[in-house]
Amino acid sequence: MRARAFLHEAENEANHRHRVGARILFCLFLMVLVGGCEQPNTKVSEPTAGDRIKVVASIYPLADFVRAVGGDRVEVVTLLPPAASPHVYSPSPRDLARFRGAVLFVQIGLGFEFWSAQLARAGAGEDLIEVETSEGVDVIHETGHDGAHGHAMGNPHIWLDPIIAMHQVRAIRDALAGLDPDHREIYFRNAAAYLGDLEGLDEEIREAVNGFARKSFVAIHPSWTYFAERYGLFEAGVIEPSPGREPTPVEMMKIVRQVRESSAKVVFAEPQLNPKAAHVLAKEVGAQVLTLDPIGSPDVEERSTYLKLMRYNLDVMRRGMQAP
Ligand SMILES: [Zn+2]
Repeated sequence: MRARAFLHEAENEANHRHRVGARILFCLFLMVLVGGCEQPNTKVSEPTAGDRIKVVASIYPLADFVRAVGGDRVEVVTLLPPAASPHVYSPSPRDLARFRGAVLFVQIGLGFEFWSAQLARAGAGEDLIEVETSEGVDVIHETGHDGAHGHAMGNPHIWLDPIIAMHQVRAIRDALAGLDPDHREIYFRNAAAYLGDLEGLDEEIREAVNGFARKSFVAIHPSWTYFAERYGLFEAGVIEPSPGREPTPVEMMKIVRQVRESSAKVVFAEPQLNPKAAHVLAKEVGAQVLTLDPIGSPDVEERSTYLKLMRYNLDVMRRGMQAP
């Protein structure tokens, strides 16, 4: 076990170095590309947009919002692969190709997509319109949580609160209508229908949460902070002080104490993060580990849209928040 823990530490360290190294390499790569070395690459299959508007969304839920509002007027490309954590992502040359021909880049903002700025401009050119859907959102700033890896400007997991998601959908609607005023009515009609769906989702969650026997939970990462605040749940502890970094023994003891003082009996892990620390804590406090998915995936039917994803997560929460 010690050897494994050591290996894991070494791996984290190596990952970190790898990220720094990858970023430098990537900058060099951009310099070469922008310097005029662009060559037609037949291996990268470039989707043709026709007269459709090509939109790049940083994460899958945002891509789903764009699809809901844009309908068949848009072609949507998701930047982040479903299994990747946005916090520890290093872009690849393939991501650059994803921006080719794009006119709109929809993101969270708040430094969440810290890896995307150069990428977007190099891939799509100066005319790319960028929408930060966190603009105008009342952002939660975390205390006692190192601000590294995309939390420096506040907690970016705003989309997991359906009411804030409605704000994001309106931002996307306005951006599309501005870009393509001839079809403004379509975007407004689609958005209105989808906003209605989100309202329905909100009511469903409220009703479900009312039936929860417990209101407290522990999370491996503060992804559900906005959700908790919206629906009167209590985040009794967050395990990873910064995404991808496991807590030190001292930090772990502090969380254990905190969780013991609460009524939480569930630790929520995430498919994009290593669940090891979640299992260690759960064992320590006699809780169960369940997995909530903040991102979703086109390859998993029950999590293939934002609405499905949120209902899936609500079901998992139901299991975690019932009485013993
Ligand atoms: Zn995060």
